Amino acid sequence: MKSLKELTRPNIWSLAPYSSARNEYNGHVAHVFLDANENPYNAPYNRYPDPLQQEVKERLAKIKGVAADNIFLGNGSDEAIDLIYRCFCEPQKDNVVAICPTYGMYEVCADINNVEYRRVMLDEQYQVTADKLLAATDDHTKAIWICSPNNPTGNNIMREEIIKVIEQYDGLVIVDEAYIDFSSEPTILRQLTQHPNLIVLHTMSKAWGSAAIRLGMAFAQKDIIDIFNKVKYPYNVNLLTQEQALKRLNDTVSVERWVNMLLQERGKLMQSFSELPICKQVYPTDANFFLAKMTNAQNIYDYLVEKGIIVRNRTRITLCQDCLRVTIGTKEENSELLGALRMFK
Ligand SMILES: *Cc1c(COP(=O)(O)O)cnc(C)c1O
Repeated sequence: MKSLKELTRPNIWSLAPYSSARNEYNGHVAHVFLDANENPYNAPYNRYPDPLQQEVKERLAKIKGVAADNIFLGNGSDEAIDLIYRCFCEPQKDNVVAICPTYGMYEVCADINNVEYRRVMLDEQYQVTADKLLAATDDHTKAIWICSPNNPTGNNIMREEIIKVIEQYDGLVIVDEAYIDFSSEPTILRQLTQHPNLIVLHTMSKAWGSAAIRLGMAFAQKDIIDIFNKVKYPYNVNLLTQEQALKRLNDTVSVERWVNMLLQERGKLMQSFSELPICKQVYPTDANFFLAKMTNAQNIYDYLVEKGIIVRNRTRITLCQDCLRVTIGTKEENSELLGALRMFK
């Protein structure tokens, strides 16, 4: 790996970060807080929240099996995605490489930050080789994006290839595991300590049932986390979110129950789809959604919208012609979808 200094934008490397009141005071027992110009009334929401969200991180550290020092928390994983560009990619000079098709935010954030975005097409099986990704890099490539299980295709990218990219590439490799709780493969987090260039993304938006609170996480070596913390907004995760996250994290039993129900429903729904005359192919998935190739995705999508049922039309996405992306819902929602599709003419 190149040194972190070489990978970081020079202005960020030398940045003196904003020092908030809650940053400067830390640790000592105190009971009179006259340092942050807050209103003393309306506790607890009158106070600025913990800028580094230590309590949430300590809970997450236990659940994920990593040190709290190796965790960054953001306003969704989308914040971490944007921060990676802002910290490491010099606009109009550096570039990133990503699999295609994949999650749209990697490209949107590249465009916003004026950073060249290089696509490497997946093959027919929606797989990619390490060699293909590495061949797309040059001296100005700062990061490679891999989403596994991948959105919108649903499949895991082959682990051997991911590891090979991490080991052979001298820049950062981001593995976005937003759907890892639904996957038959274990998380790549266990390998975090062996790979200084690895950044893993998780989120509370999917299996953890908390998309509304906006909490995403990045796991990486402490020196990378320190750079994120320097650049993020001082109080980027609000107190309501921190409180609700702790509540959810203390109830892992519900998450397990939800995942089990959804996996069972996923099997049934995919089987039923494969029996629909208007469905040409159901793609294998390791996520809480699947991709289905239909006879005419646009017409079927419009028909479902008429009925008040919304799936994701992916027909205009590369390699996804005539595909709908279907999220697994409750038993009742899934059977309503199927009932409607069986009536489609
Ligand atoms: C849904 C999703 C996310 C989650 O983003 P949040 O900002 O945490 O809600 C991240 N990556 C992928 C691939 C996703 O599909």
